[in-house]
Amino acid sequence: MKVRQISHHVFVILLAVTVRSQVNPEMCRYPLGMTGGQIQDEDISASSQWSESTAARFGRLDLDNGDGDGAWCPDIMSEPDGLKEYLQVDLRSLHFITLVGTQGRHADGMGNEFAQRYRIKYSRDGTNWVGWHDRKGSQVIEGNRNAYDVVLKDLEPPIIARFVRFMPVTDPSMIVCMRVELYGCEWLDGLMSYSIPEGQEMIYRGLDVYFNDSVYDGASAERLTKGLGQLTDGTWGLDDFLHSHIYGMWPGYDYVGWNNKSLPKGYVEMIFEFDRIRNFTSMKVHCNNMFSRGVRMFRQATCYFRSGSDWEGDPVTFRPTVDRVSQGARFITVSLGDRTASAIKCRFHFSDLWMLFSEVAFQSGSAEYNTSRKHGHPTNTLPGEDPTHKVDDSNTRILIGCLVAIIAILLTIIVIILWRQVWQKMLEKASRRLLDDELTARLAVQTQAFSSHHSSLSSESGSTSNSTYERIFPLCSDYQEPSRLIRKLPEFAQSTEHIGPSTSCRGLASGVSDGAPHYAEADIISLQESSDSSTYSITAVNMNLFAGSDSSMREFPRDKLTFKEKLGEGQFGEVHLCEAEGIQDSLDEDLSIEEKSDSPLLVAVKTLREDANKNARNDFLKEIRIMSRLRDPNIVRLLAVCVDTDPLCMITEYMENGDLNQFLCNLRLKEAVDENKMDRGEKEGESMISYSKLIGMAVQISSGMKYLSSLNFVHRDLATRNCLVGKNYTIKIADFGMSRNLYRGDYYRIQGRAVLPIRWMSWESILLGKFTMASDVWAFGVTLWEILTLCKKQPYSQLSDEQVIENTGEFFRDQGKQVYLPKPLCCPDRVYNELMLGCWRRNAKQRPSFQEIHTQLTETLA
Ligand code: AMP
Repeated sequence: MKVRQISHHVFVILLAVTVRSQVNPEMCRYPLGMTGGQIQDEDISASSQWSESTAARFGRLDLDNGDGDGAWCPDIMSEPDGLKEYLQVDLRSLHFITLVGTQGRHADGMGNEFAQRYRIKYSRDGTNWVGWHDRKGSQVIEGNRNAYDVVLKDLEPPIIARFVRFMPVTDPSMIVCMRVELYGCEWLDGLMSYSIPEGQEMIYRGLDVYFNDSVYDGASAERLTKGLGQLTDGTWGLDDFLHSHIYGMWPGYDYVGWNNKSLPKGYVEMIFEFDRIRNFTSMKVHCNNMFSRGVRMFRQATCYFRSGSDWEGDPVTFRPTVDRVSQGARFITVSLGDRTASAIKCRFHFSDLWMLFSEVAFQSGSAEYNTSRKHGHPTNTLPGEDPTHKVDDSNTRILIGCLVAIIAILLTIIVIILWRQVWQKMLEKASRRLLDDELTARLAVQTQAFSSHHSSLSSESGSTSNSTYERIFPLCSDYQEPSRLIRKLPEFAQSTEHIGPSTSCRGLASGVSDGAPHYAEADIISLQESSDSSTYSITAVNMNLFAGSDSSMREFPRDKLTFKEKLGEGQFGEVHLCEAEGIQDSLDEDLSIEEKSDSPLLVAVKTLREDANKNARNDFLKEIRIMSRLRDPNIVRLLAVCVDTDPLCMITEYMENGDLNQFLCNLRLKEAVDENKMDRGEKEGESMISYSKLIGMAVQISSGMKYLSSLNFVHRDLATRNCLVGKNYTIKIADFGMSRNLYRGDYYRIQGRAVLPIRWMSWESILLGKFTMASDVWAFGVTLWEILTLCKKQPYSQLSDEQVIENTGEFFRDQGKQVYLPKPLCCPDRVYNELMLGCWRRNAKQRPSFQEIHTQLTETLA
């Protein structure tokens, strides 16, 4: 932290030196204080935030996790089109901003959110906002590709602003998080806007040369008003105006220019408005002087001053020596005689057919560029006394000296920063090694540890201070959670004793407990462990639920539902088949409810148990919220809700064949021979199913998961019991009660007697509490195994729950002792070796993505 502060102070000194001599975009690239903390928390705001711990103030580039969750993340649900979300930084004064940096959120490996693209808006007064665009008109900036790396983008053209907004451009349902930094320097000119006549077009030897102000950010009619543009972009034109500093731009790009003939008064009038009343010493105007092509510097400048509402009567007039020898472009310094004003109006008189300017800068009060005043130019400079040359000559040595000093200091800072990074990495490696070693050692004596800890912990209930598990995760508090989790496992094993391994079709609760609450209802608390935060999550859900304009969340009148039969019972309560009178009228066109008839539609109505606790209610509402956003043929569709009064209900499409586990469990595999028979016209019997149909089901699940992963949603509970079967073997994924987006999962911790579907969970989910897309892939492997064994057995049915946990430890150690689910009889070697085993690779990064799984399975079908 100290190094950071020192380097910031050095930067501030350098910044002052540099700004005083000239605003030069190549030098003006200092971090403005998001990282270093000079920008205060109260100056960082946002359109919305997902939660307190992803508030705007956490959107600082390179911010360590601290007490927040590692970044600013907008609430994607609060803004239906998602395009108006922003993170706003108030720099408190005008700044010249040349560079922006963005980073995503990784939260020590637990997060994976970032903005792939974003836009920038800025304002000088906090009222008028301008969308930044590059020199070719594009507003969108390519952002991050991963959650870790900082991506820096030059703002070409730079902006002059006090307020800057970063606006992620994203699919409305994508989760993005951002950390940002602005780079530049203070804009000491204080110029808020200039008003000039529109630049004109020259035809030079048949070539169109445009002298318009192409980056002007104000209003443009006959005159350009209320904005800044090329005259303040820090880029000076070349001697030959046909060429530009910037590659690929049209001839004349660097200059704004006017033709004498089109301005009958013989001068160009420019009005400059400033942020406050200032004491002006001089003005520098960069002019082209290519007289061989009819372009020459101005012959006279007459400037009027205004402090109140009227222009003062006594202007300052300046007549430079019109250079008739050198065609070089140059700065001309106009002495303004220490006049006080908040606005200046200057008339620049032509001395040839064309007058071209590329930059105008002011020196006033403390913001003077330190030269003109020293030399004390008179108000009316006589011909032959061009002050520009003197000014620039006297400064050259100082400037070179400054630059050398700056480079030396920068090099020192870079060395310090690099040294720090190397040191940090070494520390991290060392502690990771420590962690791995200890975890390995821990797992080796796991069974013993479970039993000995169990008795003491159950009596201590939650006392963690002396736990070995606490010690093995010394660096990160998140790692302390799995230790709690592991400690709960013996309890869990006991509470699920009566389920046990099964060798025949299981009940609805397969893999989870009958007696203990489902883990979605368990005592899940926020990391902050404050009652406020849990209240927050409920209110937030409700607010978004009812404030959102999403039509799929519409309230449906309960009295229009007619009960038909009970379909099943889940962790929230009962699910009923109902007729919903008139629901068709309110459905979106794209809803795939085939029979649109006048008769009431059959729907499934899931009702929250009346005695449900706060967390279950919260999760039920969350499931509604998540489902209302999902639109995919392989995801169960939410049609409407009844949430105005209790009991809460969600109305989903009816899947005629119930859940996939039950469905498959009642079927037999059609042997290949039988399949051939089927091909010859024999009908697939009700109790038989072919291998290709099974793979077809897996393809559908992988397709639904592919969609979820494109939204960064982690399901967390993928299993056949959570998939539903409709007509014609249509499969849809359901049960989003446990799904958390990647970062929500970080705040919630499982406590108490939570029940976990351990047989579907990856080793890192069990041991590290880490749920990611890759852990969903692991669960998919188990689901595929269930499908191909027609759900006849529970996964690892020969292992007790404790043995499953021990096996998880073996996956972690990876010494070849881990037990994999066996190859199902009907499963081809390739599907087992490449796909199923691929899903269970220790290294999450080496597991296939849902995209790859989907492609591979589809190829199997072909
Ligand atoms: P859940 O609460 O989602 O776990 O559902 C409990 C049971 O109700 C499932 O296992 C299914 O058998 C049944 N069920 C849930 N939703 C539907 C639906 N949309 N269509 C048909 N049956 C369903």
